[in-house]
Amino acid sequence: LQQLYAPLDRLGTLYRQLNQNSTDAEKLFSLLAQPTEIRDKPGAKDLVVTDGVIEFQDVHFSYDGETPALRGVSFKIDKGESMALVGESGSGKSTILRLLYRFYDINGGRILIDGQDISEVTQLSLRRAIGIVPQDSVLWNDTIGANIAYGKEGATDDEIITAAKAAKLHDRILTFPDDYSTIVGERGVRLSGGEKQRVSLARMFLKSPAILVLDEATSALDTETEREIQKALAELAKNRSSLSIAHRLSTIINSDQIVVMKDGKVLEHGTYHDLIKLNGQFAVMWKKQIFTEAEMLSGADDPSAI
Ligand code: ADP
Ligand code: MG
Repeated sequence: LQQLYAPLDRLGTLYRQLNQNSTDAEKLFSLLAQPTEIRDKPGAKDLVVTDGVIEFQDVHFSYDGETPALRGVSFKIDKGESMALVGESGSGKSTILRLLYRFYDINGGRILIDGQDISEVTQLSLRRAIGIVPQDSVLWNDTIGANIAYGKEGATDDEIITAAKAAKLHDRILTFPDDYSTIVGERGVRLSGGEKQRVSLARMFLKSPAILVLDEATSALDTETEREIQKALAELAKNRSSLSIAHRLSTIINSDQIVVMKDGKVLEHGTYHDLIKLNGQFAVMWKKQIFTEAEMLSGADDPSAI
């Protein structure tokens, strides 16, 4: 009975925590998604974001304590700068984003925001500072309005609608039986992958955090919607630090820095022009993908796309 009781008790605690903070999506997400317990250090202070400078210093990390996922990764994103991560699947891109959000503690090195080690600050303050659009968006069995509102405590209806418009979701919501009050998720209106992604994006617009983190945030959208949302994201990213993984190389030309990952290490690092000049892995990927994209676009019946 004792064995049965312990997990039930834990579930009860989790449930109470969920209820107390039902508007804090990141907290919910972190409670559910963390395999290991990440705890605040005793006496941890709140993160104070002044410029949003992000620094990885020789970061080492392994998920299982054996296979390394990151092997000494270093970079710095200055105030208001954007950095894009590229590299083949499994090279460590998503891991970098997860570690910045402190889903896991690292095994070596340091991650700093404005000079403060993220393992030394409260998780709540860290997660308030960062908005994240993950590779797979999480929706709650709740109204579509409430799902967007998770982006910000105490959001007003007007703010929610403005965010939905920025994420190109407003018109779609108006087609739902009870518009913003329609239940979505398992027991409600089923959303497509692209619509779920736009809910995450709407949360990001609503939160307008100091630091933006985007993991292939527009990968499930059609070209036209993607272009419009990229424009809105670029506007949001002005004067904010951002770290993004693009699924389309053409969206990162204007990034201040590009980091090319391979096998958990930084292979190449520079601006688009630097990397083309270097004529290494990025240049190869670039030529290959631009060709594929041009082909896709010309087949997409959208002349303005080229
Ligand atoms: P990318 O985003 O570049 O495709 P990831 O950062 O997701 O790559 O993965 C880096 C490495 O870590 C890969 O070898 C992957 O298999 C491993 N990995 C990713 N997520 C997990 C996880 N949750 N548990 C164990 N290993 C993982
Ligand atoms: Mg990934």
